[in-house]
Amino acid sequence: MAFNRCPECDAYELKVYGGEHISRGNYKRYYKCSACNYHCRTIERIDWADLERRKLMAIIGWYYLHENGDLIYKRDLPGADADIRESPFAVMLWPIDPKDRSCAWQLLVEASAAGAKRERIKELAAKWSCTDKDAQHYASYIGAKLFMDGNQWCATRSDFTDLQNSPAGFGDTALDALGALCKELGWKPQKMWGATFHDLVKKEG
Ligand SMILES: [Zn+2]
Repeated sequence: MAFNRCPECDAYELKVYGGEHISRGNYKRYYKCSACNYHCRTIERIDWADLERRKLMAIIGWYYLHENGDLIYKRDLPGADADIRESPFAVMLWPIDPKDRSCAWQLLVEASAAGAKRERIKELAAKWSCTDKDAQHYASYIGAKLFMDGNQWCATRSDFTDLQNSPAGFGDTALDALGALCKELGWKPQKMWGATFHDLVKKEG
């Protein structure tokens, strides 16, 4: 949880307790100091495209990658994602929309590429039934190719020609192969507006 320094009493107790959209692109955020009860508010510009996307999505929470490799869930309360973005321990965050399966896949693939703990990734993949078979649906949805190469899964972009000239990822499971492709395409965790795995798969080689 990110606490800011209170301008009134100097304690690190200033915390977001709410917020509202006041006009197109502006968000008012409320802060309160739990030491001296000082109140204040800020008005922030928000990213309109992000807001539209979030309105279309039914975000119920966020998973974030802790620097220790764990993936941790947080319910979507006001300011939850801002807290994660401000936290020095959080490396990356992903919204969770239970109606959109590609959310789960994107999280697992990008978290693999970012070096999240394998055991934790396996556990979440099992919980969400992200199987090798389901991976085929996801791959065709984002425009990636997924096939067996010997006894390994191989993931590539749709413009794949050969292994010398085209990026490819290999693994024991489809998820491992997609994670390896994500890393190969240069994906990096970025808490603000970084390119997603989907963006990198779509981009022409
Ligand atoms: Zn205070």
